[in-house]
Amino acid sequence: MALIPGSTTNQSPIIVCGLGIIGLTTSIRLLEAGYQVIAITAQTPDSPLTPYYASSAAGAHHLSFAADNDHIQRSLDRRTFDVMWKEEEEEGDASGLMRVPQHEFYGNTDEKHLQFFETLPDFKVYEEHERPPFAKHAVSFTTLTMEPLIYLEKLMHRFKELGGFLHLGTLTSLSDALNYLSPDTPDPRAIVNCTGLGSLKLKEVLDTNVHPIRGQVVVIRAPWIKEGRTKQIGKIDGGQRTYIIPRRSGEVVIGGTREVDDWEEEPRPQTTVDIKQRAVELYPELVPESKRVAGQQPDPKDLIVVRVAVGLRPARKGGLRLERGDDLIVSERKIPVLHNYGHSGAGWQSSWGCAEKIIGLVKDLEVVKD
Ligand SMILES: Cc1cc2nc3c(=O)[nH]c(=O)nc-3n(C[C@H](O)[C@H](O)[C@H](O)COP(=O)(O)OP(=O)(O)OC[C@H]3O[C@@H](n4cnc5c(N)ncnc54)[C@H](O)[C@@H]3O)c2cc1C
Repeated sequence: MALIPGSTTNQSPIIVCGLGIIGLTTSIRLLEAGYQVIAITAQTPDSPLTPYYASSAAGAHHLSFAADNDHIQRSLDRRTFDVMWKEEEEEGDASGLMRVPQHEFYGNTDEKHLQFFETLPDFKVYEEHERPPFAKHAVSFTTLTMEPLIYLEKLMHRFKELGGFLHLGTLTSLSDALNYLSPDTPDPRAIVNCTGLGSLKLKEVLDTNVHPIRGQVVVIRAPWIKEGRTKQIGKIDGGQRTYIIPRRSGEVVIGGTREVDDWEEEPRPQTTVDIKQRAVELYPELVPESKRVAGQQPDPKDLIVVRVAVGLRPARKGGLRLERGDDLIVSERKIPVLHNYGHSGAGWQSSWGCAEKIIGLVKDLEVVKD
C-alpha cells in the first residue's frame, strides 16, 4: 500500500527497508544528500505498539555502552549526541528531547565508568561521602533523553517533507522490495537494510547471529522528576540494571530487563512488580509527594502507572552490522546492498552516526562506478 502516492521516479532511487529510528535517520541523511529514497516497512511510528518495533518501546536515553577502546562505536555515539544536543537547543519542546543531569551508580567495587562519560558536559566523580550506601562508585554528567513517539513522528514528517516515498508492507526478501517500484523506475542505486530483527528472516540476509534481547519497562507519570539515574550491579550483559528516564512530557520510564533470546511479547506481571520495587528503592521521589510519609520507604503501588511496554532489542552476536554486503543479483543486474542493523540496546544513541556512515558507503559506490 502506497501512503505517499506517485512513487515513480526517473532518478535511480535508494531503497531503504525498515523505518525504525535507524531507517528514518538513514533515509533523512540520504534525502538531504540529494538521493531519491523509497522506504518499505512493516511498521511506522503510527502503527499500533508492538515489541517488534523496538524504536517505539525504547526508554530512551543517550547512555553509551562503547568500550574505551572501541573508537568506532564511540564516534557513532558521540556524533549522535552532538546532533541531538543541537536539535534540543534549536527546537526546544518540539525536539522530543530533554537535557538531564544523569547519575550513574555502580554496585560492585571492580566497576568503573566508561571513558565516554568523561567527554559529556558537567562530568563529575562522586566523593565517597556523596554516594548512596549501595554504590561503590558513582559519576554524574549531563545527557539527553528521547521521547520515542514524538521524535519518530518528527522524523517521519521530515522524511515526507524531503520527498521520501513510503510503502507499507512486509518483505520476505530484499529482492521483494523491487516489486514496490513502478515499471518505469530505473534500477535502484542501492538497497539499505535497516530491518533490525527482520534480518533474521529476510531471504538474502538470513543472519542467524541476530536475536532479541527482550526489555520490559513501566511508563509512569511523574513530571516533577527531572534527573536520570542508573544503578548497575555486575556487568551490563548478565548483571542487573535499574534505570529511571524522565521525558520532557512528564512521563518517566522505569526499567528494566535484558532477557536474551526471549520472544515473549506480553508484559510479565511479576517483572512489573520487580521493576517498580527497584525503581522506588533507587528514586523514592517517583512516588507522588502526597503519598510519601517522612522516614518511611514509599510504596511502589502508589506510582502513577501509564502503561507497561515490551520491546525486543535487535541484537546481533558479533555486534552491529554497518557495511556493504553481497550484491543482489536480479536478472544479471547487480544491486549493491548496504546493512545498518543489529544495534541491540544502542540504536537511538548511535542512529545519526550510523546514518552518516551509510552516506559514506553510498558515495564509495559512486567512486567504484567511475
Ligand atoms: C526497553 C528498551 C529500552 C531501550 N533503551 C534504549 C536507550 O535508552 N538508548 C538506545 O540507544 N537504545 C535503546 N533501546 C534500543 C533501541 O530501541 C534499538 O536499538 C533501536 O530501536 C533499533 O532500531 P531499528 O530501527 O534497527 O529497529 P526497529 O525499531 O525494530 O525497526 C525495524 C524496522 O524494520 C521493519 N521491518 C522489520 N522486518 C521487516 C520486513 N521483513 N519487511 C518490512 N519491514 C520490516 C519494522 O517494521 C521496523 O520499521 C531500547 C530498546 C528497548 C526494547
